[in-house]
Amino acid sequence: MTTIEKNLQRVRERVDAACRAAGRDRDTVAVLAVSKTFGTLDITQAHTAGQIAFGENYIQEAVQKITELRHLPLVWHCIGPIQSNKTRLVAEHFDWVHTVDRFKIAQRLSEQRPAQLPPLQICIQVNVDGGASKSGVPSEEALALAHQVAALPNLRLRGVMSIPEPASDFTVACAVFAKVKAVFDDLNVNGLALDTLSMGMSADLEAAIESGSTLVRVGTAIFGGRPSAISATA
Ligand SMILES: *Cc1c(COP(=O)(O)O)cnc(C)c1O
Repeated sequence: MTTIEKNLQRVRERVDAACRAAGRDRDTVAVLAVSKTFGTLDITQAHTAGQIAFGENYIQEAVQKITELRHLPLVWHCIGPIQSNKTRLVAEHFDWVHTVDRFKIAQRLSEQRPAQLPPLQICIQVNVDGGASKSGVPSEEALALAHQVAALPNLRLRGVMSIPEPASDFTVACAVFAKVKAVFDDLNVNGLALDTLSMGMSADLEAAIESGSTLVRVGTAIFGGRPSAISATA
């Protein structure tokens, strides 16, 4: 068994346990494997171990991998910030985008989505803690943006995504994730029919699942430490 296969198994066990603890059905939570900085060999190993959905942050790097792995039935999620000059690459190569926080970016993605492809699946990124991460729309602006995005022809609005600051413990993490869940619920109450709540990473997926996450984005726990993560803690 490869290390990646073992890691994936451990992550699935953590998700199982978190679902049981939260009293949720196991099939209400999916794992997105965050493969940024890792190569196509690692992605292929994860796929062999049953992983289909992959998340990438850096557009150029991602497009190269997506193109190389075209023969595999993978689903690609863009989870990094998107500048205007990168929207075409994103619209042409990805299946999902989690990081829409401006109407202008959504508009460009819709215009540039090739006609022969299905609609691009969209999550609106929400910033609930106003903290260091500059990305994401403030909670109180999420509903207006969601209505605008939902009206665009080549996009399909699926949910809400957030990257809160890492919390010191489980209870604090749950309190922050609950704010994201509240935005998600509010959008649904207002008629948007969303099914995806993208929150939780390697360190805090249990708290995210306790708080209602349907999609945890897991990098380190599957692929190991990234070069920047290693130097940051060295
Ligand atoms: C890198 C990244 C992840 C994965 O983080 P890990 O801590 O390695 O699991 C999840 N979401 C986003 C947006 C990321 O950039």
